[in-house]
Amino acid sequence: MIEVELANRQAVQYIVRRFNLRLKHKLGQNFLIRPDVVEAIARAAELDEGTPVMEIGPGIGTLTQALARTGAEVTAFEIDGSLERVLTHTMEPYPNVHIVYEDVLKADLPHILGNREWHAAANLPYYITTPILLYLIQSELPISLFVFMMQKEVADRIMADPGSKAYGALTIAVQYYCTVEKVMDIPPTAFIPRPAVTSTVLKMRRREQPAVIVKDESLFFNLVKMGFGQRRKVFANAMKMGGIPADLAGRILEKAGVDGKRRGETFSMEEYGRLADAWYDLK
Ligand code: SAM
Repeated sequence: MIEVELANRQAVQYIVRRFNLRLKHKLGQNFLIRPDVVEAIARAAELDEGTPVMEIGPGIGTLTQALARTGAEVTAFEIDGSLERVLTHTMEPYPNVHIVYEDVLKADLPHILGNREWHAAANLPYYITTPILLYLIQSELPISLFVFMMQKEVADRIMADPGSKAYGALTIAVQYYCTVEKVMDIPPTAFIPRPAVTSTVLKMRRREQPAVIVKDESLFFNLVKMGFGQRRKVFANAMKMGGIPADLAGRILEKAGVDGKRRGETFSMEEYGRLADAWYDLK
């Protein structure tokens, strides 16, 4: 296949017709039709000649093409094996693209990625955005930069400030490991078929060290779970519900200098960090 611009309405419609594709809603198949958007994602991913970049869900190759054109080495994971007959054609001009037809959550990523430092880019499938994001960010995989498109509502939760409605365990799970920057919002008109919601591209850079240094991460994330699992409860009660005896809870709060009458949804990451270390010391 000669090199044609894939991320536009005519090309996507032509490919869907020519290959008689039935786009699978349950796999989140919404394809980008804006060249400026795929280029912006590729730019945000900071790719040079030879940079290893993994893509999740190439679809028919719209974003993959923009990544490939930077000269980066692209490894893309696509769960839908029926797209192989399309990608074989659309990716033919790009010897630097390698497609793995597997669920990214089941692929042997430690083996495939090896020890090199990777970047990751994706227009993530909506139905599974958070599991994929958390899996990649919380893993020990050598990925230093993530440029991911997702539902705006999920991006807002990731970027939320303490005390706001969107602030939650997801905010802390991501910001603990990464700095987060918004790249752009994308309207539904940028896709075929159109999704019901606005999307946002976020750039998440893995921190050299977690945002707060704690003595025991599992205690930290346990407290976060208590704080947001019982959003309506004051934190002292949430701790009790989480299995911490009242007298120990009182001593933890006092040592950490945190008011147990506040709700956990108002605590900053640093406050959760202080609580986790106080718990560790008093255990
Ligand atoms: N990258 C293309 C674009 O931007 O136009 C398509 C993005 S589409 C939103 C999401 C893609 O992810 C689909 O091609 C879908 O088949 C694929 N996908 C869904 N779940 C997946 C999974 N668990 N692992 C790998 N790919 C997945």
